[in-house]
Amino acid sequence: MKAVKGKYYFGGVHPHDEKKLSQTAALEVLPVPETVAISLSQSLGKPAVPVVEVGAEVKEGELIAKADGAISSNVFASICGTVTEIKTLQGMNGNDETHIFIKANGKNDKSELPPLSEPSADEIKERIKDAGIVGLGGAGFPTAVKVSPKTPVDTLIVNGAECEPYLTCDHRLMCEKTDEIARGARYIAKALGVTKILIGIEANKPDCIAAFENYDDIQPVILKKQYPMGGEKQLIYVTTGRKVGIGKLPADVGTIVQNVATCYAVCEAVELGKPLYERALTVSGRAVQNPKNLWVKVGTPIQAIVDFCGGNAELTKKAVAGGPMTGVALGGFDSYTHKTTSGILLMTEKEAAADEPTPCLNCGKCADVCPMHLMPMNTAFYSAAGDMEAAAKYGNTAACIECGACEYVCPAKRPLIQAIRKTKAYLRNRK
Ligand code: SF4
Ligand code: SF4
Repeated sequence: MKAVKGKYYFGGVHPHDEKKLSQTAALEVLPVPETVAISLSQSLGKPAVPVVEVGAEVKEGELIAKADGAISSNVFASICGTVTEIKTLQGMNGNDETHIFIKANGKNDKSELPPLSEPSADEIKERIKDAGIVGLGGAGFPTAVKVSPKTPVDTLIVNGAECEPYLTCDHRLMCEKTDEIARGARYIAKALGVTKILIGIEANKPDCIAAFENYDDIQPVILKKQYPMGGEKQLIYVTTGRKVGIGKLPADVGTIVQNVATCYAVCEAVELGKPLYERALTVSGRAVQNPKNLWVKVGTPIQAIVDFCGGNAELTKKAVAGGPMTGVALGGFDSYTHKTTSGILLMTEKEAAADEPTPCLNCGKCADVCPMHLMPMNTAFYSAAGDMEAAAKYGNTAACIECGACEYVCPAKRPLIQAIRKTKAYLRNRK
């Protein structure tokens, strides 16, 4: 279908995106690491429960930990080898997580599920659950839950916005695996019982937009280049005109959003029986000699990725897992990738631009760019004063999508995201 133009939404920012560093680098495969350490916390919700013991021989794709309840996900061996240790260590987001260590044995034995041919809606849902698929756009919500909404929906929106600066792995995936993404989207649509499929892609990826114009059943929507265009609520509005209210879900307005990488994973799980144990990610930043887009096994040491791409530790002022706006700062290279790791960025002092915060200027710029119409300066002010109730109330913090646009524009470099996360943690603990 010929691409149509999407709508505009209030707020947002236009950060310097630096995508040119890696957007023409075709996906390549990172060599199998000697050892992987696979966290059992691979999705929102509860960690998975190990089903292997130290000393076990495992094949690539073999189940090593089972989901614990609905909001959890199965975890699989990403390489063929021996389980050498099961222990708790700090994950890349700073939380203590149990990891299963596997030492490679040089073999290439695989354990896969039986491929499905013309599967029913229920078979697709079951396969998504069994294959441990989670939202690969960053949130890590179990996809099996998302494809079983409580209210009927009529539209699947595929998220190809990739609005985070630096990240280009979705761009490459859309260029190189267009058919697989389209088929994965059709499986998800079938599971949901919908026929309307839209794909939102930012205007800075004309090659991807053209590629998706080749399908009669998928409507490409050209999105303005603006951050956070890929935020779920923003994407739903710009592609359909429907507004998801505060505290409401996409399904409440008849939509479900799935990232392009998730569609690809669903295609592989259905057609090849391949569980989710590897993904595409971007390695970039001015402290990386050879920025790349790589296929990486879940649980790969960050150090192995940095070494492969010529990362310079001395030049690195700030290392980030994910994108610079919503990713997590890394204390070093001694952690391991997750299913949701979309990027490893090594930024120089100039890129990191980490100025010291100064007092608030009351300029209101943070509110001007907030796509959720919030008052982040209030959250920061009351949180700093220790009045968390007021921080939550006057900043309406519960509605924040943590996009980071407010902090990006703040001329006083106020730590707004830190204040927002602290206030949200207070709200969670109060519950
Ligand atoms: S307050 Fe939240 S939603 Fe609004 S700009 Fe800041 S991080 Fe984004
Ligand atoms: S943008 Fe920064 S300085 Fe301006 S009102 Fe918001 S917090 Fe204060």
